[in-house]
Amino acid sequence: MADLHEQLEEAEARVAYLKRRIATAPCAEVGHRWKHIGGKNCGCENGSCSVPVHECTVCGDCDYGENAEAEETRAECASRKGGIDA
Ligand SMILES: [Zn+2]
Ligand SMILES: [Zn+2]
Repeated sequence: MADLHEQLEEAEARVAYLKRRIATAPCAEVGHRWKHIGGKNCGCENGSCSVPVHECTVCGDCDYGENAEAEETRAECASRKGGIDA
């Protein structure tokens, strides 16, 4: 069944090609490739929680902690605003 092997090879070549395309495509086309580079204070009065900060591995752009996870953290902070819940 050499045919199946050929099909697999073709498929794998296509996957490799697409991965390469995505890796080198401009961010405007496929979006930033965020990499976790650290954390920063979420900015609430609590002062002890942090949100993740990401940097794009392609264009070097930084989200400065503006991301979905940070939004969640800040929403959580807002919900227990006024101190640590008893
Ligand atoms: Zn980018
Ligand atoms: Zn907070």
